[in-house]
Amino acid sequence: MFSSPAPSQYILAFIAVLAAVRAFPQPPGSETTPIPAGPELRVFDPSLIDKTVDPCENFYRYSCNGWFKRNPLPPDETSYGRFRELYDVNLLHLKQILDEAAVPSPTRSPNEQKIGDEYASCMDTATIDKAGIAPIQPELNRIAALKSIADLPALLAHLHTIGVNAFFSISSSQDFADANSEITYYSAAGLGLPERDYYVRTDAKSVQQRQQYVDHVGKIFVLAGEPDVRATRDAETVLNIETRLARASLTVTELREPKNLDHATDMASLSKELTHFSLAEYVAAAHAPAVSKINDAEPRFFAEFNALIADTPLDQIKTYLRWHLLHTYAGTTMPGNFEAESWHFYSHILNGAEKQQERWKRCTSLVDYEMGEALGQVYVAKYFPPEARQHALEMTLAIEQTMDKDIEGLDWMSAETKIRAREKLHAVMNKIGYPAKWRDYSTVSIVRGDALGNQERLSNFEFARELAKIGKPVDKEEWDMSPPTVNAYYEPQQNNVNFPAGYFQPPFFSDKEDDAANYGDMGSTIGHELTHGFDDEGRQYDKDGNLKDWWTKADEQQFNDRAECTVKQFDAIEAVPGVHLNGKLTLGENLADLGGLWLAWMAWQEKAEAQHVDMAARTDGYTPDQRFWIAYAQQWCTQTRPEQLRTQAEGDPHAPDEYRANTVLTDLPEFAKSFSCKKTALMVSPKPCRVW
Ligand SMILES: [Zn+2]
Repeated sequence: MFSSPAPSQYILAFIAVLAAVRAFPQPPGSETTPIPAGPELRVFDPSLIDKTVDPCENFYRYSCNGWFKRNPLPPDETSYGRFRELYDVNLLHLKQILDEAAVPSPTRSPNEQKIGDEYASCMDTATIDKAGIAPIQPELNRIAALKSIADLPALLAHLHTIGVNAFFSISSSQDFADANSEITYYSAAGLGLPERDYYVRTDAKSVQQRQQYVDHVGKIFVLAGEPDVRATRDAETVLNIETRLARASLTVTELREPKNLDHATDMASLSKELTHFSLAEYVAAAHAPAVSKINDAEPRFFAEFNALIADTPLDQIKTYLRWHLLHTYAGTTMPGNFEAESWHFYSHILNGAEKQQERWKRCTSLVDYEMGEALGQVYVAKYFPPEARQHALEMTLAIEQTMDKDIEGLDWMSAETKIRAREKLHAVMNKIGYPAKWRDYSTVSIVRGDALGNQERLSNFEFARELAKIGKPVDKEEWDMSPPTVNAYYEPQQNNVNFPAGYFQPPFFSDKEDDAANYGDMGSTIGHELTHGFDDEGRQYDKDGNLKDWWTKADEQQFNDRAECTVKQFDAIEAVPGVHLNGKLTLGENLADLGGLWLAWMAWQEKAEAQHVDMAARTDGYTPDQRFWIAYAQQWCTQTRPEQLRTQAEGDPHAPDEYRANTVLTDLPEFAKSFSCKKTALMVSPKPCRVW
């Protein structure tokens, strides 16, 4: 839910909304009554098709143009697609739950009191504004009181407990070498810009963004009471310190390679490296369990951190910490002028939003983000019928069976590797809808009228919950997404697929529609998550989640050669003028899309045959095969601002949706056949890529 410790976790799609709550805050605006849901959402929707476009030339535009017409990009969104369309429906349901829970009543359950009062406190902008910076003042004082660098470990540990992302982060994580054991995991952190390359790129746009970042940091310091001249100087200090950290950090592409993060060590060894920072004092102050085995994910970063704290004046370190404290809380829980400034930089400048999102949406997302399993429990009872769960499970099992046959039939893989690949597939755990055991929030105190204090206590709760896992058996029943989330993920170190309840609804899945539509859409997602276990990153983990090579050298070479085809395909795409997609960064997602869609297609063909579906019959003018492909493409209908497209192309492992839809289809001759596309058509690749 919070910063996930898992070094590699494969989600289906980038969704701005949850990130927006904490990182891209917005100020309170005038509230309006939520608009009731628009036209009925369908998995296969013929009314969205644009028949003036040739499906063999641009299938995405052919399938989605009607949706684009119906859904102009809202001014408060940086991108808006079908995931967000459904999440908006879920938000209305969640709001209803929260509105009820927010009414003070002695009959509220403990969870209702917590989610209701957190929501009410977040909505109460009058109280937040009136308090000014007083609620954060004790923390500012604590930083100001730092006497020497020797006291940094205790201060930093405290800041980490309240969610401040300064310098580095500590969490629990499964040992790469032994997936049964949870060890302490230290990773690089401490940047205010989205990722390390923002600090080092030399193109004009990036130089401008860094200047805008410095302006933003300066304005936040001014709001916190600093004189202008000092604020400007302090903002430069922040950029300088973060640039040093960034230069020593791995790139987003390097972070996708698990071997780059695998540096098992122990307390004694890391302590020796950190000559200017007492790790023992830090661990004690963070209340982290004292287990000896740890992973230092980025040794080069920690060496630089050690040097930086020794040669940087104490005042500058304090400035850096002050910025990160204010940045963390400038979100939804500080006065409106902080939120406005934060929104202006992160949502407007970096991602192109024109207007702030309504506050009820932000507060609802906040509760979903911070207490998702308290809110989600009510949500699931109301909106996720057992039949939907059963149907989802059946589809998952059908696609797993298809993958089994697919692996068996591969012409490039040896019998030896096939045995282990199938063992891994058979060991996949299917998690559907919601957790078997709900998270216990009883130790968190939520106080009505104390929005910032609530956020501090919830951060503290999450930090303690995370660290408490160290040294204990791995809990594979734990979820990293809340039940109402419209998304899915594969967890490589646990070899499980996770499909939250919020996703199993139209326009992605519907009991009212047939298998052609459901397999094309939800089926391809199930296939996508399963394929993540066998993409360039996931394939490096064995059936038990250990980072252990189970491939013959020859098979590995075969895999890499095939994957290279996909790398080149995406490298060639120019997403915004001057910015190409990064084939290596997006490889895992692209392989998952390609394999997932193929598996869904095979599973659906088999099912149709068993059920004697008339494949020539037309519904709404389309054959079942055609509806399968259209349902696939329609899940990706998304409008994105150029600013966000740029951010996404530079740092997101997911390619923009148009390319996710079209590129995969050009690789599948079965698609071309369904629409009688000529060999020379744009939607037919002369050299199709295929791995799984
Ligand atoms: Zn994915």
